[in-house]
Amino acid sequence: MRHLILITLIYSTFLSCGQSSSKSKIGYQYKLTDQQWKEKLTPEEYHILRERGTEEAFTGKYWDNKTRGKYICAGCNHELFSSKTKFKSGTGWPSFYDYIENGIDLGVDNNLGYSRNEVHCANCGGHLGHVFDDGPPPTHLRYCINSAALKFIPE
Ligand code: FE
Repeated sequence: MRHLILITLIYSTFLSCGQSSSKSKIGYQYKLTDQQWKEKLTPEEYHILRERGTEEAFTGKYWDNKTRGKYICAGCNHELFSSKTKFKSGTGWPSFYDYIENGIDLGVDNNLGYSRNEVHCANCGGHLGHVFDDGPPPTHLRYCINSAALKFIPE
């Protein structure tokens, strides 16, 4: 019983840390009002980036893009991912095993009744996708990102 309480305590501390780190990011450098975001983004971009939406698999612009270059935030142009870390995941979403330094910020998403790590742009806080631990080496992570949250800049 003592073990169970201890585990529960550690787990809830871990979860609340995850949440507070995402909430403490109220001060994203790039800030717009909701109205300004609506004017700047297409309805699809707004749904993904500002309402934490998910595009349908195999429908986005970049899931099968093999061109060399950089992926930047569709909301604020912040550099997020390089084609060097993009890999074929078979999921129908652009997938990366790593991100450009200082590109992203992680938070916890409990919307589906379980926790998964939500990926945000570190500059504007826009929702990009989620990270899973079934990626290839060297990180063994899979950043599963919505095409609509990205803009591609060829090399
Ligand atoms: Fe951004």
